[in-house]
Amino acid sequence: MMNDTPITKVSVVIPVYNEEQSLPELIRRTTAACEGLGKAWELLLVDDGSSDRSGEMLAEAANAPDSHIVAVLLNRNYGQHSAIMAGFSHVSGDLIITLDADLQNPPEEIPRLVSVAEEGYDVVGTVRQNRQDSRFRKNASRLINHLIQRTTGKAMGDYGCMLRAYRRHIVDAMLNCHERSTFIPILANTFARRAIDIPVLHAEREFGDSKYSLMRLINLMYDLLTCLTTTPLRLLSVFGSAIALAGFALSLVLVVLRLFFGPQWAAEGVFMLFAVLFIFIGAQFIGMGLLGEYIGRIYTDVRARPRYFIQRVVKPARSGAAEEENV
Ligand code: UDP
Ligand code: MG
Repeated sequence: MMNDTPITKVSVVIPVYNEEQSLPELIRRTTAACEGLGKAWELLLVDDGSSDRSGEMLAEAANAPDSHIVAVLLNRNYGQHSAIMAGFSHVSGDLIITLDADLQNPPEEIPRLVSVAEEGYDVVGTVRQNRQDSRFRKNASRLINHLIQRTTGKAMGDYGCMLRAYRRHIVDAMLNCHERSTFIPILANTFARRAIDIPVLHAEREFGDSKYSLMRLINLMYDLLTCLTTTPLRLLSVFGSAIALAGFALSLVLVVLRLFFGPQWAAEGVFMLFAVLFIFIGAQFIGMGLLGEYIGRIYTDVRARPRYFIQRVVKPARSGAAEEENV
């Protein structure tokens, strides 16, 4: 089924955290790209509790005459994904595009995202062609991408690239998820019926530094993982079962060898002690895994993600012809 509702208005959502140097160029280039669309558009800039002048600059830009800019100012720093969510809650377009404020995602790619979305996609993802980040960041991302593809079987080219387009119903679905830690591209993909990845350019950061320290990156990685799956909790019991089985097998081997070679060979039972120990260690992990299963379920309940979203309802109209209602 194609989702080919026409796109009449495009909303661009950008989280801003201490980016006063990039802002003027960001606004200029994004405005130019959106003007070229030939559609209604708006630019939502979310100030994520910046300590520099970013907040005031956004408010000024929004107050300027004929401005298409909506400034959403948060009272403190909540993190990139929460800031984007805050922007989502104020969009009015049919297609929502997110990108970074540091100009690493060229705003000139916006028209291409819009035209791909118009082909009937719910989510347009992107893969950074020539990623301009440190070797460490690139390798870490590659490792995480690989791990996630292996554990979930869901292929998604590039989780980290925020230059993405979402249809309005996907954004509405995300807004109905009340979990505190979330990773937007993954959340969106769980609701998308038709998603596609396209290659986009990537630039080096011109002003300032990355807002992610090692600790914040680790935190982001866990957000990403827990947003996606509770499988790691289950791995505890799998791991535990493997250890317990190995311990049991070892004890059998020891008993048999002890009968053949006598007590001298068995070092008076020391090895047997190890075998028994392994069985108990394994049992402990199984117990932890069991707890994990409960915690995983509690976690899904606490997140309270809606169980389903109806994309549309087709009802037979009184006149006989089928009638569609978008919800
Ligand atoms: N950002 C934010 N809140 C934060 C950290 C970052 O809104 O707490 C914004 C930041 O202004 C930028 C985007 O998120 O627009 C990506 O941040 P950054 O470029 O530092 O991340 P990287 O490119 O290193 O992944
Ligand atoms: Mg960046």
